[in-house]
Amino acid sequence: MRTINFSKLSSADQELLLAARDAMAQAYNPYSNFFVGAALRAGNGEIVTGSNFENASYSATICAERSAIVRAAAMGHTVFGRIAVIGRGAKAPTTEVISPCGVCRQMLFESAQISRMNIEVIMSSSEMKKIVIGTISELLPLGFGPANLGLRMERFRR
Ligand SMILES: [Zn+2]
Repeated sequence: MRTINFSKLSSADQELLLAARDAMAQAYNPYSNFFVGAALRAGNGEIVTGSNFENASYSATICAERSAIVRAAAMGHTVFGRIAVIGRGAKAPTTEVISPCGVCRQMLFESAQISRMNIEVIMSSSEMKKIVIGTISELLPLGFGPANLGLRMERFRR
């Protein structure tokens, strides 16, 4: 994993992170008051965003990353190589980067095997003063995915 300044990101990654930042505003977060935005770049170059959507049962809450993945799939995109994630509290900015929770890492691992790419995750603090880029294999070493079941994912690659 590597720490990087916003100005050193490629223009495409800057665009992705800014889209994730904007997506934070759409968070449905009455319980945590925590805003998370995610943005992935689909195979056709289109950016698909997601934000956290909470639930009174708590366990039914969906994170921004999974929201973006499922939204992209519903739009016909299962292949992607990069996703940005950023978050902030209701009142205070975050000084540390927001990284995917364990469930989202598992979901990203699935997407990585569909995509045949070691997905890069751009993780940022709310003001983009701290940014870390890591691959899904770094975030979820020895992950379990469709390949472990001997599955070929060609027909799901879109
Ligand atoms: Zn998550």
